[in-house]
Amino acid sequence: MSLVSYDTWIKTAEPLQFTDNTLVIQVPSDFHRDYWKQRLITKVNQLVNDNFQTEIVVLILIPGEKNPLASVAPVVEKKAPQPEAETTGLLRNSPLNKAYTFESFVVGDGNQMAHAAALAVSEELGTLYNPLYFYGGVGLGKTHLMHAIGNQLLKNQPNAKVKYVSSETFTNDFVNSIKNKQQEEFRRAYRNVDLLLVDDVQFFAKKPGTIDEFFHTFNDLYDDKKQIVLSSDRLPNMIENLGDRLISRFKWGLPVEITPPDYETRIAILETKATSESLTIPNDVLKFIAGRFETNVRELEGGLTRVKAYAQMKKAPITIDLADEALQNLTDMPAKRILDIHSIQTAVAKFYNVTVAEIVGKKRVKRIVVPRQVAMYLARELTDASLPKIGKAFGGKDHTTVLHACDKIAEAILNDDKLQEEVATLKKRLDVETVN
Ligand code: ADP
Ligand code: MG
Repeated sequence: MSLVSYDTWIKTAEPLQFTDNTLVIQVPSDFHRDYWKQRLITKVNQLVNDNFQTEIVVLILIPGEKNPLASVAPVVEKKAPQPEAETTGLLRNSPLNKAYTFESFVVGDGNQMAHAAALAVSEELGTLYNPLYFYGGVGLGKTHLMHAIGNQLLKNQPNAKVKYVSSETFTNDFVNSIKNKQQEEFRRAYRNVDLLLVDDVQFFAKKPGTIDEFFHTFNDLYDDKKQIVLSSDRLPNMIENLGDRLISRFKWGLPVEITPPDYETRIAILETKATSESLTIPNDVLKFIAGRFETNVRELEGGLTRVKAYAQMKKAPITIDLADEALQNLTDMPAKRILDIHSIQTAVAKFYNVTVAEIVGKKRVKRIVVPRQVAMYLARELTDASLPKIGKAFGGKDHTTVLHACDKIAEAILNDDKLQEEVATLKKRLDVETVN
């Protein structure tokens, strides 16, 4: 970010409160708020998650708006285990997040292989898959699995030497060791371990000095049959400027992809998270949240946290309507949002003056059935979601129901001018929404 951007967007923001995983920030104007919503909140979440392994909700106010959490006493110390600063004290055993275990990891479609390989490696160091290499999108559990391997190993062998670092920490340690003439110490710290976990190795790209050092670290460990586990957002040969030597090493072991969880797994993840926080959340609400976050477990969990915070704030029970409201002005949407089913449901609900809960519900009165069918029709037309996927997003309906609805609307449009106009208006509105 440039200095001008920094001055404009960040310096002007004032943190007001941090209570119960909700951060309240005040910015000067609506304009600033939009920018935060579109650009900065995801970054804040990512930073907090990377450093403290916890989810927070960011609430943005403009002057004149009341801080809804003002009456809640700030919680000073939060439970999240905070890793110590990793750049100092090279030889310290790295802090592992105790919450990231195999027990707390929900196994499903997209991560089955990764989970199995991780478990196997934690029981049989250095011989099975070396290196084990996880790759996949953001928020899909790579870091969680790496910590789980470390935690599991220490459970079985409390004296094992485990080092977990991000590739940036490795880089910093290396640079500092040169600056402070502590290269001996650096090498001991990284080569005298039973298990080395290096997260996000794509950030090694374009750092030839570090790459060279890591190459030697790798070889030393490998020759000693010590276990190496790596993660990245892509396959080794897709990392630019990593150098052929390192790429070929990374490919020696097992590269395993992690893909986004399916609907059932997402529900199971939410259930696990709710249980671990002793939260009781109705099933239909869990389904509703699971339907809204499809590609990122971190955001999925963030959705749950947000609903919980919203319910506390409003002192209201957790229902679909409340969840819908809580997630309505969802702040952590990426800037270039492609049209999702939920936006369609929201637009259609608003247009016909019904609620999203009614649209995804089961009531068969005309007032709701038509909007529901229109929403399904638009979901089919405007997204590339499959029929079963649309069915799920509409409260778990069968794909034949969706197909029937789509056919029905497609046919009705031909004879019904009013409906034709309504659908056209909705399309136009949704289009506007997707462009900006
Ligand atoms: P990545 O490193 O791939 O970006 P993380 O490991 O940081 O993703 O996961 C993001 C969040 O989602 C973490 O809080 C993690 O505990 C949670 N998470 C991801 N996958 C699962 C899963 N299968 N079961 C339970 N929690 C998960
Ligand atoms: Mg990670």
